[in-house]
Amino acid sequence: MRIDRKRLEASMDALGRVGATPKGGLNRLALTDDDRRGRDLLVTWMREAGLAVTVDQMGNIFGIRAGADGLPPVLMGSHADSVPTGGRYDGQLGVLCALEVIRTLNDGKVSTRHPVGMVIFTNEEGARFQPAMIGSGVMAGKIPLEDAYNARDRDGLRLGDELERIGYLGSEPCVPRPLRAYLELHIEQGPFLEEEGIPVGIVEGIVAIAWSRLTLTGVQDHAGPTPMRIRHDALVAAADVVRGVRDIPRTIGGDLVSTVGRLDVTPNIPNAIPGRVALSIDLRAPDEHHVTRALGLVDRLATEAAHAEGVDYELDHYWRVPRTHFDLEVVDTIERAARSLRCGHRRILSGAGHDAQYMAAICPTGMIFVPSRDGRSHCEEEFTAMDDIEHGANTLLLAGAALAGQA
Ligand SMILES: [Zn+2]
Repeated sequence: MRIDRKRLEASMDALGRVGATPKGGLNRLALTDDDRRGRDLLVTWMREAGLAVTVDQMGNIFGIRAGADGLPPVLMGSHADSVPTGGRYDGQLGVLCALEVIRTLNDGKVSTRHPVGMVIFTNEEGARFQPAMIGSGVMAGKIPLEDAYNARDRDGLRLGDELERIGYLGSEPCVPRPLRAYLELHIEQGPFLEEEGIPVGIVEGIVAIAWSRLTLTGVQDHAGPTPMRIRHDALVAAADVVRGVRDIPRTIGGDLVSTVGRLDVTPNIPNAIPGRVALSIDLRAPDEHHVTRALGLVDRLATEAAHAEGVDYELDHYWRVPRTHFDLEVVDTIERAARSLRCGHRRILSGAGHDAQYMAAICPTGMIFVPSRDGRSHCEEEFTAMDDIEHGANTLLLAGAALAGQA
């Protein structure tokens, strides 16, 4: 039993045209008109594949193919929203591979003990509404439904209103449901599989993540008449912190990565000494303890940088996600599937968050990665070769079928 590569490719092309950018990328922000058009197309295909389609209170779309016994389903899926100038693979590839698996089971008239289903999660990217992974987060009970509805985009539009506007405010309760397993195929978004020429990554889990916010407050003053000796420049202190954060992984090792991605400078004009700077710090590592040690170094860094420039600071370690371990049985099942296909595979950790992270809290979960060219994603150049996608989709097929069991 193998997936139909041509059919999968045709579906990728058709869905990729919805919200396509001139340079071959994708702009399909959550709950926009283009998101609705993409959802409508997917729902049409899901119904054509004979699936019973339902929509929950968060607009998560489920399609279930009946099993022989009254057992909980094996669910496969991902998200269909993108970042503003994203690519055609992040998210929708996982949704389309799930659909292709179901079409293949239909072609072979395969009857499974557990139902096999697919899911499209709402607003995974967090590009329009924060936080990210909000559809799966509510389903896993980690984000209150009302908080999700009240999330607002840049223009002040409410997520709940936008769900209703595009016709995807469903009636099914968005709560944990009994599931045999959740499987998500996704692009790697990093360089390792491509560097090693390996088509299939068997994801063992997701790295631990910590986010901090540092606010440095100096003295805002005129850039001309103020002599250097009496300055307290918040941006100069911030520069020390940026450099220091960059150097933390060298001290700690263990594949820790650290990023200052956001800098808000006040007043941010050429002729004033910056009085206030707020910056973000993102730390990730496979080992929880490395993150803890890195946070300690951030504390020291902030104290030293603020002292050297004579500014005040406030440091808030406000968000922390522990390391996610995927289910051993599911990971082994995926590995057996890849092995039986005789395609290259290796175990790998995800450095990015995915819906699978929340799903792991409510059912046995695993992920399959396929390579990203040059390790790039969230850009129009995002690309995965069809040969690799075929290996990944077949791995998803065999793993899903194994978990669902022969009827
Ligand atoms: Zn994604």
